Amino acid sequence: MPNRATEAATTDKTPLQQEIDKRLTFAIISHPDAGKTTITEKLLLFGGAIHIAGAVKSKKNARQTVSDFMQMEKERGISISTSVMGFDYRDRTVNLLDTPGHADFSEDTYRTLTAVDSVLMVIDSVKGVEERTRKLCEICKMRKTPIITFLNKFDREGKEPIELLDEVEAELNIRACPMSWPVGQGASFKGVYSIYEKRLILFKPHDIQNVESSVAIENMDDPLLDEKLGSLADRLREELELVQGVYPEFSMEEYLAGTITPTFFGSALNNFGVRELLDAFVDIAPAPRAQESRERLVAPDEEKFSGLIFKIHANLDPNHRDRIAFMRICSGMFERNKLYHHVRTGKTFRAANPTAFMASERSIVDTAYPGDIIGLHDTGTLKIGDTISEGENIEYTGIPSFAPQIFRQVINLEPMRSKQLNKGLEQLTEEGVAQLFIKEYSADKLLGVVGMLQFEVIQHRLKEEYKASVRFEQADYGGAAWIEAEDSRAMEQFMRFHGNHVALDKDEERVFLYRNRWAVSRAMEENPKIRFYFTSDKK
Ligand code: GDP
Repeated sequence: MPNRATEAATTDKTPLQQEIDKRLTFAIISHPDAGKTTITEKLLLFGGAIHIAGAVKSKKNARQTVSDFMQMEKERGISISTSVMGFDYRDRTVNLLDTPGHADFSEDTYRTLTAVDSVLMVIDSVKGVEERTRKLCEICKMRKTPIITFLNKFDREGKEPIELLDEVEAELNIRACPMSWPVGQGASFKGVYSIYEKRLILFKPHDIQNVESSVAIENMDDPLLDEKLGSLADRLREELELVQGVYPEFSMEEYLAGTITPTFFGSALNNFGVRELLDAFVDIAPAPRAQESRERLVAPDEEKFSGLIFKIHANLDPNHRDRIAFMRICSGMFERNKLYHHVRTGKTFRAANPTAFMASERSIVDTAYPGDIIGLHDTGTLKIGDTISEGENIEYTGIPSFAPQIFRQVINLEPMRSKQLNKGLEQLTEEGVAQLFIKEYSADKLLGVVGMLQFEVIQHRLKEEYKASVRFEQADYGGAAWIEAEDSRAMEQFMRFHGNHVALDKDEERVFLYRNRWAVSRAMEENPKIRFYFTSDKK
């Protein structure tokens, strides 16, 4: 089995390259309830980042009611420190990036996915592949992000392993490569055979699995297998033979290219199969890769530092307008207090108190390396998608805004406070809570979101943080497309017919708001010289 980590240790590498090779920056993708929180906690336990179960707060409540969500927002000081969880495991420095559980905040998740080098996909074996998993997996495939899969809840009666793998392959369009195989399921769950480690691991509920509960079995004819599994031993032999015939063998190249997904079975709640998963993960998961910028591909081991702002949290303390911007280091070594270049504004940028997120605490860092995430205190100069560099004008790509599907017009209920309202709208949309569109002709302000809950959050935060009251009025649109034309006459013509439905986005780019799919198809047909794009990066 190829091992990324030892490979790296045996060759001569610069100190920077050695730091890069150690980094493992990933996120967990799953449908709500599949077990993301549970597995996060177990990973942190193994990584020594926390010492007791129950330390990772389930964000479950957020899914149920808005008020629970608001409550959670109030505790944002806490949830922020869990946005990035860093820990060392074996020879790697692991950065686990948290993603919001609620589907209404999926854009936040998409942005986080641009800052990771691989993902762990958790699937509930009772429910199989679910809708959010499908969507998030699609984004990973678009970005060719390597995916490792954990089929969870094998202590429950669920779908057969083969059925699950078939579902993964058919619905997610990726080949599954089993790295372990379950013995029994539900009440008869006996454990897993690790194809990766050639070891049988016996199931004991709620146990920290230790070496005693696993036995090395290299040869399937070993009578030890019968001793441990009784009548299930022969079934395992048959199934493993079948597995070898049907599924691809592990190939590092294909895993890194995102065409196969190494797959593990277990039960996160019972702490079962998680150590094996983590061990394989640190063996094979990729170190930071080259990142695409508008100008060129930027390799992590380039000497000059560069980083990408992928997330912003505003108003941690409502009494101060402070924000924290999350930056992923993309190349070179980041140094505290050094003078850098803020590409969008052309201004100098210096971080006096950059924060790292190791274990459960936050601390000031002096240096950081590609793959690391640091928090920067910001008074409003940084925006999502910004690049900080050592002087070069590079702009990282890959954080497009997706066209929202729900629109509301913003009605100001206190005209005397329109300044506060504008400030609030500007900052909340910079944070990525929603997208703001201003109609070109009427100057009406429209907010576009992917989930209704976002409107309630905005209304609440405008009131709490900016003392601005708004009401939202139904806007009869179901989608938006960024529009562009080389031929200015074609654009004039378009504006003559559709100008009432054209707005400017945050970058003053023109957006056509349309009622339904039929309306946009028709506009496209009638205006062949206008190009329509459904993400802001115009791809
Ligand atoms: P999330 O929404 O993906 O973060 O899911 P959670 O980690 O909060 O888990 C959802 C529910 O499934 C909780 O009640 C967990 O206790 C339960 N759960 C998680 N893993 C397992 C497992 O391996 N077996 C069983 N039976 N339940 C599990």
